[in-house]
Amino acid sequence: MALIVQKYGGSSVADAESIKRVAKRIVDTRRAGHDVVVAVSAMGDTTDELLDLANEVAPIPAPRELDMLLSSGERISMALLAMAIHSMGFEARSFTGSQAGMITDSQHGAARIVDVTPVRLREALDEGAIVIVAGFQGFNRDTRDITTLGRGGSDTTAVALAAALDADVCEIYSDVDGIFTADPRVIPKAQKLDHVSSEEMLELAANGAKVLYIRAVEYARRHGVLIHARSTFSSAEGTYVLGEGMKNPREAEGAVMEEPIVAGVATDFSQAKITVAGVPDVPGKAAEIFKIVAKSGANVDMIVQNVSATGRTDISFTVPKADAAAALKALAGEQTEVGFQNLIHDDQIGKLSVVGAGMRTHSGVSATLFEALSAGGINIEMISTSEIRISVVLRDTDLTEAARTVHTAYGLDGDAEATVHAGTGR
Ligand code: ASP
Ligand code: MG
Repeated sequence: MALIVQKYGGSSVADAESIKRVAKRIVDTRRAGHDVVVAVSAMGDTTDELLDLANEVAPIPAPRELDMLLSSGERISMALLAMAIHSMGFEARSFTGSQAGMITDSQHGAARIVDVTPVRLREALDEGAIVIVAGFQGFNRDTRDITTLGRGGSDTTAVALAAALDADVCEIYSDVDGIFTADPRVIPKAQKLDHVSSEEMLELAANGAKVLYIRAVEYARRHGVLIHARSTFSSAEGTYVLGEGMKNPREAEGAVMEEPIVAGVATDFSQAKITVAGVPDVPGKAAEIFKIVAKSGANVDMIVQNVSATGRTDISFTVPKADAAAALKALAGEQTEVGFQNLIHDDQIGKLSVVGAGMRTHSGVSATLFEALSAGGINIEMISTSEIRISVVLRDTDLTEAARTVHTAYGLDGDAEATVHAGTGR
């Protein structure tokens, strides 16, 4: 008998039928003799609809009230799910984030979990009940207000519950079968991974993969939670995300699984490139520029600086498209102080990243990437690397083709096309 935490995303509980299907799955786990704690997201697009409503009544909704509103989405799904389980003859009890002891800081809309005190959940489990917890929400002790954890926050709720209850596994259910070597909608030959390390998963998530939220993976890594990402629509096993020193549950005792050098290829269309042209090539200019950009709230990803021949240089960097306008405005406002010549904004870029822990120990990984791109006649505009990742910025129109070529070059193509169940990955 194990303690299993399961998380169901919005697409898994989109309507009454789906809720009943999920209830059955939970009951099956209970029947197998396990204790079950469930974190559930709001039904379908509820959170988006509530956000739209809020924006209709107020241009900038008050953050406290917005959290009150958004947290109601998960209260609906948790109660319905508990009812559905009840009607199947099993005891189930739903809890809001605050009832579940999900203690956060006070930052509305992006609260961080600081403590989990699941006293009531333990009691319910001891009494033999299935526990259902509203995802994405918590409670701050100082303000005594309800908070939300940021979009996609139910993954984090599930992982935090798994850590606090010392669960055997945290199963994250969505409408995709697991974690793939690439987004199957971009690369039909992408294959489901049996397992991936949490550090690779973090790089994939940070560079465009949407199956799991970064914060949840970070939390799992820090607290030693085993994640199993799998599909609500099939009983097939999904992908295990393994933290440091964790063993793949599928791995037979003693058997060594071959680690591929490259785990996956991530694509990201969400970035824009800003070039600050004609920057005086003297110490302190980069500091000035990035201080201005930081103050605008933009989150800088890649940076390149050209060599200067004329005493001036160009500095290019990427930011999320949504942050570009604020960064440009801030920079334009200080043009004379910084002394650059002009600003160029380019939102037609795409980022391709190759991620794999094997890069630490194998040479030639970057050569394979550059050769594949060159054979495809694809021009590279920026390059950046981490210990286990190589990213390049390309024209957005080249990105899909580039990703396919590179996926093939690393030997990641599967024999069959991946199944995509209208997948949003949530
Ligand atoms: N319902 C919230 C959202 O849509 C939280 C979640 O789905 O994880 O962002
Ligand atoms: Mg949702």
